Amino acid sequence: MDIGISATEYLSLVRNGEISVEEFIAKTLDRIHVVEDKVHAYITVDEQNALNKARSIDKKIKAKERVGLFLGMPISIKDNICTSGIRTTCASKMLENFVAPYDATVVSRLKHEDVIVLGKVNLDEFAMGSTTEFSYFGPSRNPWNVEYVPGGSSGGSGVSVSALECMISLGSDTGGSVRSPASFCSVVGLKPTYGLVSRYGLVSYANSIEQIGPIARKVEDIALVMNVIAGHDSHDDTTVEKGNVDYVKDLDAGVKGKKIGLVQQMMEDGVDKEVSTATNNAISKLQDLGAECIPISLDSVEHSVAAYYTIASAEASSNLARYDNLRYGFDLGTEGYEFKAYVSKVRSSFGHEVTRRMLLGAFVLSAGYYGKYYLKAQKVRAMMKSQIDETFKKVDFLVAPTMPILPFKIGEKIDDPLTLYQLDINTIMANLTGIPAISVPFSISSFGLPIGIQIFANSFQEKSLLHAAYALQQTTHLPEVPL
Ligand code: GLN
Repeated sequence: MDIGISATEYLSLVRNGEISVEEFIAKTLDRIHVVEDKVHAYITVDEQNALNKARSIDKKIKAKERVGLFLGMPISIKDNICTSGIRTTCASKMLENFVAPYDATVVSRLKHEDVIVLGKVNLDEFAMGSTTEFSYFGPSRNPWNVEYVPGGSSGGSGVSVSALECMISLGSDTGGSVRSPASFCSVVGLKPTYGLVSRYGLVSYANSIEQIGPIARKVEDIALVMNVIAGHDSHDDTTVEKGNVDYVKDLDAGVKGKKIGLVQQMMEDGVDKEVSTATNNAISKLQDLGAECIPISLDSVEHSVAAYYTIASAEASSNLARYDNLRYGFDLGTEGYEFKAYVSKVRSSFGHEVTRRMLLGAFVLSAGYYGKYYLKAQKVRAMMKSQIDETFKKVDFLVAPTMPILPFKIGEKIDDPLTLYQLDINTIMANLTGIPAISVPFSISSFGLPIGIQIFANSFQEKSLLHAAYALQQTTHLPEVPL
């Protein structure tokens, strides 16, 4: 049995009785046993529960009882999304043994449709990073070449889907964290419009810009998941009704007559030659399918990295103040400590990157510097949003490389935060302006490393964004993961 099938194929096999849920889950767990040592996608695998759940779904199918839409499909969840009964660590020592008392809304919605949660997957600590190297549990590795980073921060999500250790994963995207691993691991990743998917149960990093998003091997699988997770949630007042949009229906509507803008500032210096060639090829494919392509200039992109790291760090410094080992924390006796010394001892357990962000965030918010940094960053964000609003009067979609460069070796840039921050240049615009963006696997470089193409649409235009992504996917012929 091939476990590398799409969700859509899985559903039809189970429905026709060609495979049982238990068989498929057992096979996927076998696969995890074989490849986990090499790629380290998972922080926690919930094996026994997964098998029990599979058996109970098989029974329901046999008895012709109501079974949810997903028929026991195996999924993984980024370990900053709360799951009752399985720990949620945020890849931090601080939450190493934290078990949330409830499921995040996205998780309960998927469970209601009978997914099987195989486990929780790796990330950069508190989702701060672009490579998954900043995890307290050690780095994840790229299944296309295990010496290389898988992208991040949802690296475990990208790796688990790419290495066939689950069918679908949920990640979170604050500045590109769903799209970066999707691009580096040759899978599809969607950052939905701000407010389309509930953040209830997502451990906060930078609330005003982040969204939970799905990662899958095929665009059609992303559409399936969006049908279930999108829409208003009374636990998250930033969410909106999705109405009766069906993301799966008419997925093959194509891009004929659509106008596509190629973002100039995302194709300039610093973009790898193979990446820019791939992007131009993707544009030609879309033109062959009847789209019209024009160059688009968005000069605010130049300031986006600075604005993003100012705003994200400011929000992080406030959100992470709760980790004082009184409300959340780990086992450390208070004996012999005065209050401040205790809290500072505990907080020194954060990794370097998280510490850097909290310091930076506290600085840009402090009296005397607030106007110079934080306020200025918000002005850049407002300017960017108005440029985007103007741009979408002229085009239906924007296109750019998801990541400006190819995956690089583990450890290569770990001590170079500014270079790592710069890698987010093409992804963070979607977060700062709230618009949706998807990364579609497009080609494999001459050294066997994946290249993903990013497509953006205007707010709440996920349905047509998926049409464009599906159209692009249909033009590709990608090899199977070599692992
Ligand atoms: N690389 C970005 C950061 O470190 C994005 C992270 C994310 O989207 N969670 O903040």
